[in-house]
Amino acid sequence: MALCLLAALSASAQTRYDLLLKGGHVIDARNGISAVRDVAIAGGRIAAVAENIPASAARRTVDVSSLYVTPGLVDMHVHVFAATMDREYTGEFGVRPDGFTFRSGVTTVVDAGSSGWRNFEDFKRLVIDRMQTRIFAMLNIVGHGMGGRKDVEQNVADMDPEKSAEMARRYKDIVVGIKIAHYAGPDWGPVEKAVRAGTLANIPVMVDFAAFRPERPFQELVLKKLRPGDIYTHTYLSVVPMLDSEGRLLPYLLAARRRGVIFDVGHGGGSFSFRQAIPAVKQGFMADSISTDLHVDSMNAGMKDMLNLMSKFLNMGVPLDDVVARATWNPAREIHREQYGHLSVGAVADVAVLRLIEGNFGFVDSERRRMGGTRKLICELTLKGGRPVWDLNGLTSADWNR
Ligand SMILES: [Zn+2]
Repeated sequence: MALCLLAALSASAQTRYDLLLKGGHVIDARNGISAVRDVAIAGGRIAAVAENIPASAARRTVDVSSLYVTPGLVDMHVHVFAATMDREYTGEFGVRPDGFTFRSGVTTVVDAGSSGWRNFEDFKRLVIDRMQTRIFAMLNIVGHGMGGRKDVEQNVADMDPEKSAEMARRYKDIVVGIKIAHYAGPDWGPVEKAVRAGTLANIPVMVDFAAFRPERPFQELVLKKLRPGDIYTHTYLSVVPMLDSEGRLLPYLLAARRRGVIFDVGHGGGSFSFRQAIPAVKQGFMADSISTDLHVDSMNAGMKDMLNLMSKFLNMGVPLDDVVARATWNPAREIHREQYGHLSVGAVADVAVLRLIEGNFGFVDSERRRMGGTRKLICELTLKGGRPVWDLNGLTSADWNR
C-alpha cells in the first residue's frame, strides 16, 4: 500500500507539467529573453522557462525547434463590437474576434472606441462576455460610440467626460482607456473632454486625430494636449507631419516621445503609408506598439492581420525581438495590464508559436502601394490559458493511427 502510494506520488511528480514546448526560440521582452528555451505549462499558467526541461516531466511534449515562442499577441486597436446589422463600427464593419484573432497568434485585443458609455454594456453582453479572446475596451468619448447615424462622432453634445469616467470606473476590469476619433471640427473641445474623462478615471486616452486642421496643429496635440502615457494611434498616416522637404524626421516627434506620449501603429484601412513609415523607421522613429485597427475593410486590404503587420516592420529592417516586444509587452504596459504580454513563471499561459518563412512576398499599404520582402511570420500554434485555440499543423494532436 505504502509502496503504491509512493509510486503514484513519484509518477505525478515526474509529470508535473501539462504541456512542454521544447526547443523553441523564446522572445520575451519583459524578461529580456531571446534564446532557445523550453517552456512548461501547468494549470493554465507558465510553470517553468529553462534551458532543458525533460520531456518526462510533462504529459505532452511538443517539438517547437526552429520556431519562435512568444507571449500571446496583444492587439491595441481593434473594432469587435459586431452586434447590430448596420454599416457602422457597432455593426457590419466590426469583426467577431474569435474567428480572426487566434489564427494569427493574438490572445488579447483592445476595442478602440466602438462603444461609448451609452452602449458599452450592450457591447459587454453581446460580445465581450461571449468570446474566448480577452477583450479590453476604450470607451469612445461620444456616448453612442461609433454606432448610430453617420455623423455620430461629430456630436459634441454627446461627449460627456463625467458619464464616460463613471462607466470606465464601474467596469475597470475591462475599460482600459478613453478614445476620441474622427472629429472634424476646428476646436480642441473633444480632445480636452477625452483627456478630462481619462484624468477622472485615471486611464490613458487614445486619439485618432482624423482631420488635420491649421486651427489645431498635430504638433500641439502631442506636445501639449496629451498627457504622458496617452496614445496617438495612426502614427504612419500620410498626413501626419513627419518628414521635412529633405525627407528628414521632424524633431518634434522625438520631443513628444520624450514627454511620454505613446505612438501606436493603428494600420487600418487608410492609416499606414510606406512613404511615411519606411523613412521614419530608418531614422529611428519606430512606433511603440503595432496594432491592426481591425475592421472588415482593413483585414481584406493591406492590413490583413497582426503577423502581416509585424512582417512589414521586419522587412523594413526592425529586428524580430523589437517587433515582438511591440506586439506583446509594450501594448500590455500601455493599457496598464502588466500581467499579460510576457512568459514569466506564474503568468497566464497565453502563447504564440510562430514560424519565420523565407520567400518572395509582397506587402501593401493603405494607399495600395507595395513593398517587396523576403521574410514572413506565420502562426503555427496559439495557446490561451494553456489550451490550444489554433494549431495549424496539428502539433499538439496525436497521430491518427496511434
Ligand atoms: Zn479604429
